[in-house]
Amino acid sequence: MKIPETMLAANLAAKGVIKLVEKPVPTPGPAEVLIRVEACGVCGGDLKVRDIGLPGQPPFGEPFTIGHEYAGVVVQCGPTVDEFAVGDRVVVEVHKGCGRCHNCIMGEYTACLNFGNKEKGHRANGFTSDGGFAEYALNHINSVVKIPEGISFDQAILITTAGTALYAFDQMGGYIAGDTVVVVGPGPIGLCLVAAAKALGAENVVLVGTRKSRLDVGKQLGADYIVNCSEGEDPVALVKELTGGVGADVVCDAAGAATSLDTCLNLVRPAGDVVMVAMYKKPITADLGKAVKHNVQLHTIRGEGRLNVPRALSLMAQGKLNLDPLLTHSFPLSQIDQAFATFEQRIDNAIKVVVHPQEK
Ligand SMILES: [Zn+2]
Ligand SMILES: [Zn+2]
Repeated sequence: MKIPETMLAANLAAKGVIKLVEKPVPTPGPAEVLIRVEACGVCGGDLKVRDIGLPGQPPFGEPFTIGHEYAGVVVQCGPTVDEFAVGDRVVVEVHKGCGRCHNCIMGEYTACLNFGNKEKGHRANGFTSDGGFAEYALNHINSVVKIPEGISFDQAILITTAGTALYAFDQMGGYIAGDTVVVVGPGPIGLCLVAAAKALGAENVVLVGTRKSRLDVGKQLGADYIVNCSEGEDPVALVKELTGGVGADVVCDAAGAATSLDTCLNLVRPAGDVVMVAMYKKPITADLGKAVKHNVQLHTIRGEGRLNVPRALSLMAQGKLNLDPLLTHSFPLSQIDQAFATFEQRIDNAIKVVVHPQEK
């Protein structure tokens, strides 16, 4: 495959400023592959990288390409790589742990103790190292997964979000088959939690939110009940009714709002599980005494760890996880500003906005 010397890439030029630049196409080193990027999704994480700056991120102004939800074709393999071949269709996960710290050795590579330390081998694509809003991207093979037949590049980029949902249930260590699962917050991760819970056999999935358009998408993704709090509907009353007054087995906070964790504690059954998936923007208030008194298990997750991306791909390939309703908009890389504006302002009910770097 012919690889050009330079490529178009979206760099973070300064705090809050994304700029298209022409830059050299990188060459893969040992255990790396070069990917021709076909699709890269815009995510809330990109906004934080652009506007706030996250730990381990290159300082604002240093050349740095953002974008972490991408898929494409392997066009070059570095020395020693026989796990992939030129022409493979692949999708990436964000985190490549250092492979040498306690957490990485134990499989918790999304919480790598050398987070952001490139010299020690850590990489988080589009967060601490160059990402996928570019025509080409370099990846370590540990963060690359082959796309099964029948799944498009656009569908594949949803797998980071779906992998995050599966990791939430994985980290909880419990059962979902037959369970009553409540998801608070119908953002992309919340919607993936709904679809994943159904795929894993949850009996009742309840989605709680305030925006009708998003709740309707949740219904398409398999939610059995939707609760619209802005219309005065009460999730606690519904869950009590569904569970004989006991409460839900699993409650996920995918809202990250000031009172959402407290809501979760009102919904869970004694000794049930609450998983915090959203990032809280500020310190929040929740009556943790309720959790202690009722032996409620509290869990947190970061990212799509412990190989949950390939698991999500498997569910998708089996036809058990259909996330197509999330794919609402697409733009060529030259229109990345419109792509971000559409995502950020939720223009035309945008959920997942995909950038296609090979489209001219
Ligand atoms: Zn993301
Ligand atoms: Zn590590």
